[in-house]
Amino acid sequence: MNPIDRLTTLFKGFPGIGPRQAERFVFHLLSQSDEYRNALAKDISDMKRDIKQCPSCMRFFSGSQIDCELCRNTLRDTSTLLIVAKDADLKSVERTKTYSGHYFVLGGLIPILDKEPEQKIRINQLVRKIEKNAELKEIVFALNLNPEGEYTREFVENALKSITKPRGIIMSELGRGLSTGSEIEYSDSETLKSALANRTKETL
Ligand SMILES: [Zn+2]
Repeated sequence: MNPIDRLTTLFKGFPGIGPRQAERFVFHLLSQSDEYRNALAKDISDMKRDIKQCPSCMRFFSGSQIDCELCRNTLRDTSTLLIVAKDADLKSVERTKTYSGHYFVLGGLIPILDKEPEQKIRINQLVRKIEKNAELKEIVFALNLNPEGEYTREFVENALKSITKPRGIIMSELGRGLSTGSEIEYSDSETLKSALANRTKETL
């Protein structure tokens, strides 16, 4: 394969990128300076060294500490845990500046009727995190409002039931303001803010 096709194939693997967009990325890179390309290549090759995964919330961050700055922040409310599918969703919620509890990044959503759902998300890490936190009172699901998001929420709720029920931990999900099909990553701050304020609660 020639280098243009090879790079195109690599970009095609990016989320939401089709073959034509992937090819445009390659030609864009070709039009840039050597400095730009070298800096980009260096940042990519240094990713593994400079970016870590927080063992508590599973988000990616850079820094010398073990836990990320959100998990280390003692001013944050330990009684609320908000569950998102991916890092970009966490960022969208953080941008609302209204949520002050803790987070957990599931690492994806479970495709409907998937045969190995526990392989698709970080359910074991989530269970351990909840077991360790005696102060937890509410789990907020901030997953996309589509069939995969629904399916994932049901799977997680069922997996947690034996821990949350005896402890009376409330399960809630983002409410009014988010319409069917909404994706957390692309929801604007005002919409997310009202969806957080109007979350629907249930005790399982
Ligand atoms: Zn963290």
